[in-house]
Amino acid sequence: MKNCLNCGAVNKDENNFCCGCGSTAFTNPSAENLGSPIRAAAPVQNLPYNNNIPTKFDLFTIFGFVASIIGAFVITLILEPLALVSAIIGFVKGKRFRGLAIAAIIIAVITLLIRLFVTLHNLGAIPEWLITGALD
Ligand SMILES: [Zn+2]
Repeated sequence: MKNCLNCGAVNKDENNFCCGCGSTAFTNPSAENLGSPIRAAAPVQNLPYNNNIPTKFDLFTIFGFVASIIGAFVITLILEPLALVSAIIGFVKGKRFRGLAIAAIIIAVITLLIRLFVTLHNLGAIPEWLITGALD
């Protein structure tokens, strides 16, 4: 094997032209050029290009966030637990939108607590003295 002096591509000994750039300048056939500057100048491998493509778990995050918002206004007791589970799955297994997942988890928990509190209050389960204050 021999290396192209122009682009560093590895070529077969019998090649007259570089398979990478067409140059005719080569290192000596069969000379091992480990560690040579030419080898070091070889084109860098393409980096993985799919790092930014959302996975299906990232969709859980998006669903969880949307559900947590909608759940604050309608059918809270169904939407918020769904949002919570989806956002947790998205946070643990997804690669993106982790901030969104955390937001969805916080919204779902707060909304459920408010729902719980309002329900208990409506049932008279919370004594009046407990909820006095806050600029009364
Ligand atoms: Zn070349």
